[in-house]
Amino acid sequence: MSTNCVETMKVRVRDRSAEAPWGSGLTNPVVRTVEISTDCPVCGGKRGTPTNLNQYDDGVHYSVDIWTNPCRHVDSYAAVVREAARLREAGDVR
Ligand SMILES: [Zn+2]
Repeated sequence: MSTNCVETMKVRVRDRSAEAPWGSGLTNPVVRTVEISTDCPVCGGKRGTPTNLNQYDDGVHYSVDIWTNPCRHVDSYAAVVREAARLREAGDVR
């Protein structure tokens, strides 16, 4: 199956893999805007529409996007970050 012309959407996600590990002091949340497919990677159904979520964590305010997939599959931010990296490498996203 070709991944060209994949329909994408931009979402803001918290990238914990880019943050300092626990125990190394206070760390600011790392929020990245990434581009992912509008389709659920599990079943290929459409993902839900992203909506803003204001978070308060470790004394820091930040905003991310959350969405609920109609198919009930749950996207983890870690998986979304990996998917965005894959899409970039494949050249589908500029
Ligand atoms: Zn699904």
